Amino acid sequence: MPHQAAKRLAASCTPGRRLQQCLTVSFLVIAFAITASAQIHVSGNSGSHWVDTGIDVVNGTQIQVLATGRINVGARGAFGPEGTTAFRSDAGFPADGPVYGLVIRLTTSRTDPGDEFREDYFYASTRTICFHAIGHLWLTANDDRPGDNSGEFLVTLTRGACAPVDPARLLTRIRVANQSNIAQRDADVYVNGLLVGRTGSDGMVGVRPLNVGDHIIARKLFEESSTYRNNHRRGSTQNWNYRVYLTTVTVNNDGTVADFIVAEPLATQELRLNRNNTLIGLHLLASIEWDASSAELEAFRSEMVKISKFLYNATDGQFFVEQIDLADDAAFWNDTDYRIYANLDVRPNVNLRVGGFLRGGGGTWMNMRRGPAAPGGTDFWSTFEVFAHEFGHYGFDVLDEYADDDGTVFCAANHNTEGSDYQGGQPKASCMMFYQWDAGKLCSNRAENPHRRGTRQGAQSCWSHLATQYVDTLGFPRWNIQTPDTRGAIVGGLPDLPAEWAPRVNVDNRPRGLLCGPISVRVSDSDSGAPINDEEVWLLTSYGQIILQGRSGGYDSGSARVSFGGGMIPVTGVHVGDRIAINPRYRFGSLGFGWSSEYTVRASDCGRTSRLQLLRPDDPVSFVSVSTRIDDIDSLFMPQRGALQLTAAREPFRMFVSLEPVAGGQVTINVHTDAALRSAPEAEITLKGSTNALRAVMKFDAASQSYTSNALKISDGAYASLQVTATAEGGSIIVRLFSLVLSPLNANAETDVFSADGQLNLTVPAGALPQTAVVAIGPSSAPLPPLGDGDMIVSGPFSVTTSSGNVMRRAGVVRFQLSNLRGARASDGFDPRSFEIRRFSPESKKWESLGGRLLTSVDVISVSTNQLGDYAVTAHTLAGNGGGKKPEARKPEQTRKPEQFKKPGEREKAAANFMVSDAGLKPDEPVLNGPCPVTVKFGGFITANGPGRVQYTFTRSDGATGPTLTLDFKAAGTQYVTSTWTLGGQGLNSFKGWQAIKILTPNEFESSRQTGSFGMKCQGKTW
Ligand SMILES: [Zn+2]
Ligand SMILES: [Zn+2]
Repeated sequence: MPHQAAKRLAASCTPGRRLQQCLTVSFLVIAFAITASAQIHVSGNSGSHWVDTGIDVVNGTQIQVLATGRINVGARGAFGPEGTTAFRSDAGFPADGPVYGLVIRLTTSRTDPGDEFREDYFYASTRTICFHAIGHLWLTANDDRPGDNSGEFLVTLTRGACAPVDPARLLTRIRVANQSNIAQRDADVYVNGLLVGRTGSDGMVGVRPLNVGDHIIARKLFEESSTYRNNHRRGSTQNWNYRVYLTTVTVNNDGTVADFIVAEPLATQELRLNRNNTLIGLHLLASIEWDASSAELEAFRSEMVKISKFLYNATDGQFFVEQIDLADDAAFWNDTDYRIYANLDVRPNVNLRVGGFLRGGGGTWMNMRRGPAAPGGTDFWSTFEVFAHEFGHYGFDVLDEYADDDGTVFCAANHNTEGSDYQGGQPKASCMMFYQWDAGKLCSNRAENPHRRGTRQGAQSCWSHLATQYVDTLGFPRWNIQTPDTRGAIVGGLPDLPAEWAPRVNVDNRPRGLLCGPISVRVSDSDSGAPINDEEVWLLTSYGQIILQGRSGGYDSGSARVSFGGGMIPVTGVHVGDRIAINPRYRFGSLGFGWSSEYTVRASDCGRTSRLQLLRPDDPVSFVSVSTRIDDIDSLFMPQRGALQLTAAREPFRMFVSLEPVAGGQVTINVHTDAALRSAPEAEITLKGSTNALRAVMKFDAASQSYTSNALKISDGAYASLQVTATAEGGSIIVRLFSLVLSPLNANAETDVFSADGQLNLTVPAGALPQTAVVAIGPSSAPLPPLGDGDMIVSGPFSVTTSSGNVMRRAGVVRFQLSNLRGARASDGFDPRSFEIRRFSPESKKWESLGGRLLTSVDVISVSTNQLGDYAVTAHTLAGNGGGKKPEARKPEQTRKPEQFKKPGEREKAAANFMVSDAGLKPDEPVLNGPCPVTVKFGGFITANGPGRVQYTFTRSDGATGPTLTLDFKAAGTQYVTSTWTLGGQGLNSFKGWQAIKILTPNEFESSRQTGSFGMKCQGKTW
């Protein structure tokens, strides 16, 4: 209950922070107006509505607190005034301490309990308070959602006296000025990590007494940059992408970071904003393609906080992520900066152009993908280092630092120099645009580790270019970005981001019905029950979003091929009522697989899960600060009992689908089948982020014996899925899903066009195609390239077509970012010289070899060409034979050619008692010492007692398992196998372990782990 007398007095004083004089004058009056003891009711619903006690205190006032009563907060129980420490006081709570108990707050304001100068006391620990400041008292029950509480605390406050402290110490004055000692207003001042106030017109702010050794920093906003992207308004009045501050924090050339440390608490603390202490706060919007669970959002949130730390270090303390707005369900899809796909085959990329953060045009985004799908799994493509690297393209406007045509040219000069301070793994390694995992800085022109010319980044170093992008264009520049060249040193590793610069993460979790936890799906052959790997698995939500999840069997983690187990894949964003469909990777109707057994998810498939009950109907958007964990609702998920079994049947006829872009952002769809159709096929395009399908009108063309659609208008830069359904006269049905991307061209600049999974990249030079042309990358209707014994398709085929013919006026680059199919690097398990890019010539109807150079360091192969069409990459598998004999042709299960599939009756009959009688695996060298990472090579054998098919995998002492591999025996005998394991570095300096062969069928058998043991030590390289 506020006391009316106190209220009236307060009204005659100016509200605000500096009520000290006012309060001092009025204190005598109030002191007599209030009895020695007051009883106050604090309702359980008080929360952020603090109860005004009407009581003022001064230096030397003692208040004794006695509280009784209980409040009931709902599911978490009922609590007395002591509250509880069993739960965290997240950002929404009125005070940071024990929750659901009584809090006593002192403020300098009589009207604002949120006043910045405040002290909180908890009944749990403090019941007699000696105040040393002038102020006003408030009470509340510490609950972030008090609306449905019941009960109250009855609080008795008894006034007394205690020893006052020297009044001269009651306030420390902090003054912020610029380098010319001109006072700076509106600078935010932080003491020991906490915001304590903003300077007034005199550059001053007063704070509670400071102690020797307290840290003070200040920053002042000089510019907020507006962006062309919409939905970037949160936290401002305009769409903003970054803010430029000057700070009082100096980053020294040795990597130390110096702030202001209090030496004389009674003196005015003089802080200086410095033009060279520039701090740029980024604002990024990230959107997750699917309806993500709170746990998934939390995983991305924590990764995004690390992006800030990475960029802060990379830029010598000049950039950090100030705010990330993270949404799911593809919200704000076209306005977002980071697009996060569910497809586990996505190679992260920035499409169309670099610098899209700063300048508009076309449709450019940082295209990312979901994190490690297996619990505890590793994945290098979804880590903060990759998010930061892609921001390098998008926000710093720099290109990759490797050369397409020369594996020896990469950033920077000393990245691979033994013992150098700039070698990968060292804090000064300056190659975040080449190998972000071990080189966290940007390259400069410093002579000790210069930028290498001839990479895609060109002649200008990353730092030189970046500095031009964020320069202040005013006549008297307000800020100055420092580069290693201007500061005269390559700065070492910085300490952590100051707590004051912690990013703000706003999470927007959108519900779409009954969400299940990620569901494990197993794809198998409807005839034999055998698992089928490498088939695309799609989620068709009941509300219209179509989401590719990846391929059954496993995925490329950036450091290995990670196996989920035969035919398995985790599918995320699944709701009861959604459909899961399987789509053949290879388009040979009679030999591939269709998804005639499309599956509709039932509640029993994912256990008792519901998210709706956890979100308040009136509060679908939750705002969460960086210090807060999103409530983890995983405990409510019932674990899935077993993998969902999906059987795929062979397709009854062949269907070929292709796309043709026409001018003005339109496409036509062409469908050809080898069976007569009952009616025109149905074709629909659904844009990513949209729940509406565009239906095509298909007409039969007698000349080509195929169906062609009307031109469908889809937006430039669109990522979409295409669904085609064909029904043969006999009634059999084929349904197919394809990914497609339609890309416009940059005006007067080269354009990087990517496939939806980022694995194919076409660089179109400026002027190579007419300005109005669009490029489509979509399904290939070409036959598969002919493969020799032991050859495999490593990537593709992709169809690359334009609206203005298939020849460019100037040669561009076709570049494949290869997936790791068999080992730690894309080249593992293959003859590295055998990689080649192949193109299907529409004229000759033949696949031609274009060659291409594989850069094993970045898993990229490229070729210069002006010919567009259908592209694929093939390579020859290495199958160890131990004795120089002609290698046996063996292919991993998940990439076997369609020709390998035989009709059920045609499959060779295995011997009745076919079994593996022996297997062994041994490292070539039992002890390896060398620069890390080292590659341990293993040779081994498998002996079988007759003809038949053996399925096996490699097991390792670190628990990792490889893909399931297949070996066919034509007769009893021994065949030889090889494997590699690359390890070491990034903290792992020595290791002892083993690798073994594990036979899966026809009988279980594991080779000796002792024979497979080895030891390694990193030498000459410290990570
Ligand atoms: Zn890159
Ligand atoms: Zn460079």
